[in-house]
Amino acid sequence: MSDGGWVGVDLDGTLARYDGWKEGVIGEPITLMQARVREWLARGIEVRIMTARASGDGAEREISLIKRWCQEHLGQELEVTCCKDYQMVEIWDDRAVRVVKNTGLISDGKDVQDTLLEDSGDIGGIM
Ligand SMILES: [Mg+2]
Repeated sequence: MSDGGWVGVDLDGTLARYDGWKEGVIGEPITLMQARVREWLARGIEVRIMTARASGDGAEREISLIKRWCQEHLGQELEVTCCKDYQMVEIWDDRAVRVVKNTGLISDGKDVQDTLLEDSGDIGGIM
């Protein structure tokens, strides 16, 4: 990805195990995702941790903790952000629903209503 593109990877529940908020704690790496990110880095692909932890009060401290976690578990510090930009080519996130460009359709073929029903507990918790 020599054009400046980068892959955004969520932290909690995607790259690191998440079982609820614990102040100052980041979960253990999720092995499959850790291996994937390590492979991308070895191939020269830029990876950024994209997390809500990098927003709001306490963001500076969280970013510092995340960078330390990355050093320990990925062998290098990664940039940490909560923002997209035009160079972001993919995002990997346990909350994401992929849609087919310009259609509103979900790319896995499921009906939107089915997905809302399946996840209604999570959606109710957010809204
Ligand atoms: Mg997450």
